[in-house]
Amino acid sequence: MDDAGTVHVNGAVAIDENLILAIGSAEDILAEYSAAEVLDGKDRIVLPGLVNGHSHAAMTLLRGVADDLALMDWLNNYIFPAEVEFVDSEFVRIGTELACWEMIRGGTTTFVDMYYYPDAIAEVVDRCGMRAMISATVIDQRSPDAENADDSIQKGNGFMERWQGRNSRITPIFGPHANYTLNAEQLQATRKAAMAFSAPISIHISESPFELQYSQDTYGMPSIEMYESIGFFEGPTIAAHVVWPTKEEIPILVERKVGVIHNPTSNMKIASGIAPITEMLAAGVRVGLGTDGAASNNDLDLWEEMRLASLLQKVDRMDPEVMSATTVLTMATRGGATAIGLGDEIGSLEVGKRADLIQVEFDDVHHVPTYDVVSHLVWVTDEQDVTSVVVDGKILMKDGAMLTIDTERVAAESKALAARIQAALKQRNKAQ
Ligand SMILES: [Zn+2]
Repeated sequence: MDDAGTVHVNGAVAIDENLILAIGSAEDILAEYSAAEVLDGKDRIVLPGLVNGHSHAAMTLLRGVADDLALMDWLNNYIFPAEVEFVDSEFVRIGTELACWEMIRGGTTTFVDMYYYPDAIAEVVDRCGMRAMISATVIDQRSPDAENADDSIQKGNGFMERWQGRNSRITPIFGPHANYTLNAEQLQATRKAAMAFSAPISIHISESPFELQYSQDTYGMPSIEMYESIGFFEGPTIAAHVVWPTKEEIPILVERKVGVIHNPTSNMKIASGIAPITEMLAAGVRVGLGTDGAASNNDLDLWEEMRLASLLQKVDRMDPEVMSATTVLTMATRGGATAIGLGDEIGSLEVGKRADLIQVEFDDVHHVPTYDVVSHLVWVTDEQDVTSVVVDGKILMKDGAMLTIDTERVAAESKALAARIQAALKQRNKAQ
């Protein structure tokens, strides 16, 4: 995934501490370097770890709790009640561990998260070895961890103080929810708080027709214009969704270097719409991929997001030539890294970059025969094909075995918590 799109056949990567020291032919690398540990690469493709630019990791615990409902029914009768009753730091710890397990298993090495109790998220990431940007969520309503916007900004400041500079894999950021759950002053106050820490912001922008209408009615203009008008884009911004930008708004995203995170499964499942990704890429917008939360996906599988991103553009435009395999693989790796502001550190296998890389096994039946590696990675590969995962030079999964997460414990804790949630929802819906 370097500028030239180099593919090394029978290649090797040498890692020193947490950085890529050399990359080239296996023969040269093995002749020049000796290593404490060598990962076998027979029938395996080595590529940069995948970047999940938008997630609500702990929502894995609400996976499948309710599906196929209208957004407001789903939120008001299932998600919000379950969150109000059950989301505490323990829920977030268990749900985030479950999510990290799933993401590592599927080859994701970096994620940008937005949920409650960010300290609990950061502690899990610290232990399991992934790389993450973790948002302190800011929302002007009573949430599981704050009373209102002011309170959530104050708590966000505390989170920043505790986690900034503590672990190079963890970037604490602010996550204002959206311009229909925060007003202009609160959005500006959140940006000001983020600027005080030189921290980026992750936010939902232009996700649904509802938001478009709300923004027009409330601010007299569509969302992106509104954010521009209040100076919100003066700091780095990771914008999830951006399904409904107007033609006039796309150049603002380019000029302000806003990273757009496309979440095709969520956009389809909640029927938010089809994001004009082809137009945004052509205009020069930085675009990455995300899974959104597992309650609206229902997994954290970026291989599926790559396929759907491409398929959705092709059928929407009735043009099979748009969104090639290379384009979506770039969105899941280097493009995503650039969109979230980490393009100099991760996203490609190049000397001096962080050693975040994965191995994908190519000897399963669906990979036989292989004519083109990139075609197979996008159109065939599943999470189960990922065999080994390295983040920051440390092996997190080796030959399918999870090395940093106690999967038995996490599965047992998740099932126990899910049983309580299910019983409570049953009780609640019976009472209504
Ligand atoms: Zn989201």
